[in-house]
Amino acid sequence: MGILGGLHAYIVTGGSEAAREALAFRLAREALCSAPDAPCGVCEDCRKSLARAHPDLHEVSPDERGAIKIESARAMREAAQVKPNEAARQVFLVHGADGMNVAAQNALLATVEEPPTPCVFIFVCENARALLGTVRSRCGLVRAEDEEDEAAPASPEGEARALARALVRGVRSKSGLAEAFAPFTKLKGDGAVRRLEEARSTLAGAAAASPQLASRALRGADLASRAEDMLRANVTPAQVAAWLIASLI
Ligand SMILES: [Zn+2]
Repeated sequence: MGILGGLHAYIVTGGSEAAREALAFRLAREALCSAPDAPCGVCEDCRKSLARAHPDLHEVSPDERGAIKIESARAMREAAQVKPNEAARQVFLVHGADGMNVAAQNALLATVEEPPTPCVFIFVCENARALLGTVRSRCGLVRAEDEEDEAAPASPEGEARALARALVRGVRSKSGLAEAFAPFTKLKGDGAVRRLEEARSTLAGAAAASPQLASRALRGADLASRAEDMLRANVTPAQVAAWLIASLI
């Protein structure tokens, strides 16, 4: 489990709107993925949530006046009565949640406190104080922080996940594959082997979590281990990347 604790409801606040939205979406994906390193980015749940097409991801946005009215709250309350379709829980991602009026908040209160089925509510708020104390007290507070440097390179974990996604043929275009392998081509031999090992462990987690993904994950892991052998035989990471891309197209 990453940043998500065992609560039913979270308020994501602080930082810029983009930072709040990014963190809230990450929490939502984490709640929908059942891999050990959720969100793994490669399982069926992650692929659907990344495409914002997961049947257990419900997103609510304010109207043009910034308001979320009681009808939206009632719709969430009703949806929470129904068991999740595919994931272990349903996720209600409420954008601009400080626009929920008092009636809407009161309508949701009991559901947030004790959801009738497994649910996670994520309220994205610029101003958490706009929410009633009774709602706030039932939510974990998660603070978003602005990226210090937008151009900073992605983390090694992020790069390994991008590789894993490419290896399960989750990336269709040649340019997408080239992008996924670009950081890899800059690594030295040992670092490149380690990166592939990390990608393989992500694939193993995804295979364990998603039977539909298992055979593709195993094929991807097999390609990765053949690539590791090539690196150990002193083939350069750039050549190995070219071979992998050719094998994946
Ligand atoms: Zn996943």
